[in-house]
Amino acid sequence: STNPAIAGFESTFADELGALAVPWQGVHAPDPQLLVLNEQLAASLRWDVAVLRSEVGVGVLSGSTTPAGATPVAMAYAGHQFGGYTPLLGDGRALLLGEVVGSDGRRVDLHLKGSGPTPFSRGGDGFAVLGPMLREYLVSEAMHALGIPTTRALSVVATGRRVRRDGAEPGAVLARVAASHLRVGTFELAARQEGVLQRLADYAIARHYPEAAELPATGAGSRYLAFFEAVVEAQAALVAQWTLIGFVHGVMNTDNTTISGQTIDYGPCAFLDAFDPTAVFSSIDHSGRYAFGHQPAVLKWNLARFAETLLPLIDSTPEDAIAAVSAVLDTFEERYEGHYAAGMAAKLGVSGMLLDRALVDDLLRLMAEHGADWTGSFRALADELRGHSAPLHALVPRERIGPWVQRWRGTLTTQGRGAAAAAEAMDRVNPLYIPRNHQVDAALRAATDGEFAAFEKLLEVVTHPFDRRDEWTDYTTPAPPSFNATFRTFCG
Ligand code: AMP
Ligand code: MG
Ligand code: MG
Repeated sequence: STNPAIAGFESTFADELGALAVPWQGVHAPDPQLLVLNEQLAASLRWDVAVLRSEVGVGVLSGSTTPAGATPVAMAYAGHQFGGYTPLLGDGRALLLGEVVGSDGRRVDLHLKGSGPTPFSRGGDGFAVLGPMLREYLVSEAMHALGIPTTRALSVVATGRRVRRDGAEPGAVLARVAASHLRVGTFELAARQEGVLQRLADYAIARHYPEAAELPATGAGSRYLAFFEAVVEAQAALVAQWTLIGFVHGVMNTDNTTISGQTIDYGPCAFLDAFDPTAVFSSIDHSGRYAFGHQPAVLKWNLARFAETLLPLIDSTPEDAIAAVSAVLDTFEERYEGHYAAGMAAKLGVSGMLLDRALVDDLLRLMAEHGADWTGSFRALADELRGHSAPLHALVPRERIGPWVQRWRGTLTTQGRGAAAAAEAMDRVNPLYIPRNHQVDAALRAATDGEFAAFEKLLEVVTHPFDRRDEWTDYTTPAPPSFNATFRTFCG
């Protein structure tokens, strides 16, 4: 059933973990305009789309109006940013409106980004601008369509406020839906407070990994060690998915690493065109800490920071606690490799059992050497199996890729899967359309100037990543190399 209004808010986080939340309200938006609304997502929350589009709805989505029954809070957290610890971060320009149990029975957070200053704003203005909020909408919905765990985007409202950045830019508020906003940084803050850590851990377990709650609180095989292991597994699986799709998160600080295993915070993210393990797009990542090929190592580093927070819950003897979490942390590479190898096997149409790792590594070496387009290469390989070699040879010269193709075809023959069947299977996992940097950039520039057609078209394309349509051919074209050489992303 559809609620007559925007209702059904609960606030278990604020109720159970008040030490990590400050009741707060958004600021008034001078002239709110609803620019994008995710009607399917709204329906899954059992909200009436007509109400969301009304003045009342837009007031809620802009942060101007507190919906009935909601008690919005700014969440407190800490975090390691580029390796350095900041003891108090928190929602400096965001609010947790509350939680809603959707039609699938799952509890989700509804969160507003860009809703005005909070006690955690530090030097910031508390606002967000249109381009970056539309970017998060577009990229998070693309990731969802690609099957990658992620927060979702419900809406973007332009507030009518001018926000100062390089010049004056249109202000905007993104409404985001997430399994929760619990982060490694939430645990880093809780671990340094009195009497909060265990309640936070129990809350996170109940919300995300309820099977761990069945285990004893202490001792070998305890619930907190199982909880840690579940987060390690979820995050290892996630970062492997990023690698497989060519996604560069850009700002993998511990406050942007979720406990749920969802991708969060689409600030300076980007997608690879040409494969390059050292690719960095963020304007502030000078050292390449968050480079494409470094993401698994950084994730493990973030999980080590998470492990440190849990030590007191795991064993009263520090040495034993450290030994227990270290043993779990040491499984990270194996878990990551398992997900990565399975995903690569699927991308190449090969049974995981038969995949020779050297086959993958040799392909990637050739792709890197020739700057082959990541997304296009896997589609071109399927075309090659269908007898169309031109797309592949346009990416890597025939004389270089030829011997590799022979080996690959040999593996396919060994497994007894016909070329046509393998090509079909590959096309089901290798997308045609990803949010390419140059297209995202052009669409956001136009939208900032008040022209939304390019954004709407791109959103339609990237939320149907596997549906080949002739009129969408332009969206498979990589940027000219000169574009990505100078393209930089910003935190917005
Ligand atoms: P992020 O890099 O997006 O994860 O943000 C890191 C921290 O900076 C978080 O605590 C944000 O709330 C805060 N922050 C980012 N932009 C602003 C802003 N314009 N005003 C206030 N706080 C901000
Ligand atoms: Mg963040
Ligand atoms: Mg951000």
